[in-house]
Amino acid sequence: MLNVDKLRQDFPILHQEVNDEPLVYLDNAATSQTPKQVLEVLKHYYEHDNANVHRGVHTLGERATSAYEGSREKIRQFINAASSKEVLLTRGTTTSLNWIARSYGDANVSEGDEIVISYMEHHSNIVPWQQLAQRKKAVLKYIDLTEDGELDMADARKKITEKTKIVALNHASNVMGVINPIETLIEFAHDVGAVMVVDGAQSAPHMSIDVQKLDADFYTFSGHKMCGPTGIGILYGKQSLLEKMEPVEFGGEMIDFVYLQESTWADLPWKFEAGTPNIAGGIGLGAAVDYLTEIGMDNIHAYEQSIVEYVLPKLQAIEGVVIYGPKDPKKRSGVIAFNIEGVHPHDVATAMDMQGVAVRAGHHCTQPLLQHLNVQSTARASFYFYNTEEEADKFIEAVIATKEFFN
Ligand code: PLP
Repeated sequence: MLNVDKLRQDFPILHQEVNDEPLVYLDNAATSQTPKQVLEVLKHYYEHDNANVHRGVHTLGERATSAYEGSREKIRQFINAASSKEVLLTRGTTTSLNWIARSYGDANVSEGDEIVISYMEHHSNIVPWQQLAQRKKAVLKYIDLTEDGELDMADARKKITEKTKIVALNHASNVMGVINPIETLIEFAHDVGAVMVVDGAQSAPHMSIDVQKLDADFYTFSGHKMCGPTGIGILYGKQSLLEKMEPVEFGGEMIDFVYLQESTWADLPWKFEAGTPNIAGGIGLGAAVDYLTEIGMDNIHAYEQSIVEYVLPKLQAIEGVVIYGPKDPKKRSGVIAFNIEGVHPHDVATAMDMQGVAVRAGHHCTQPLLQHLNVQSTARASFYFYNTEEEADKFIEAVIATKEFFN
């Protein structure tokens, strides 16, 4: 088990009061906090090594390049990609998914082809596919959910057909709190010759990922949800696919040679990375990967499961609280979306903030899911490895107090 008290010392931001109460930060699915180890790497970079990458022969340029490319290698190891050519640094999951839709999608989807997603996708894994379907007159299909809020695997099998070119699904939902059986879904996609795009925004920060073992064609995630900086994320793609794909953005860094009327592209992975990248962000994400690896992704996953097993039954026991997603805590990640009957989720989040407890309220960028569930919005608590059982208790106390205040 983790020494959470010790780990919490790494996060200065957690040790503050909000509205005269000790902060209980439970909005980790939106953005996680950054440990001192990552902050120090960022500070060191700007104080000692700041220079543009790849182009400079001077010492600072070489140091910046070696730190930046060193991060790419760390991230490769983190997800067990076969080559660092398969690890593209992007702005985050949203950019990664857009690049795949624009590049792979435009080249491989034609009129009448099908793209399969599910009702529990984040807007970032819906809108790029809607746009692609509109550009190509393709059909966008949604996999249904079970009563318990899991993916309906029988429906998945049915909807993924010979016409399917792309299946794009999240590995873990940012609302339903489920971890999807992604290996089986990848098999479904491959059985019909489709490629599988995995939105790993809510999984890569919380469990160990082996893209080769999964046999994912594309895997995407964001640095800011895994103790890293904002504005940096990853697009993993199989080399065989990336080699054939065209870049989405053009300009400096991504070219091999520029003639007057045309140009040739750099090798992977730089072919896709036009312009000066988020150098500090990339280096910071490498530091975050070091930090998480030191703790151990399996340890993080096991701890988060234990905290959900601790808190979920307590939340379920409060009358008038509706919880979305599976009832069995063993089936869940650290995300718990809920409503207090008769109280608007924004009022819930505001009242809980007055008690120092940070939860999110709204549609969580999943409007089709909420329409499907027939709810306008929900509150959402999301736990990470630095949250304690005491904080889980404070969360429960705050829900009870909020319910009593409004009723
Ligand atoms: N996909 C899922 C499941 C998410 O939870 C999020 C962020 O909340 C995203 C995609 C988008 O991530 P980003 O805003 O970092 O691009």
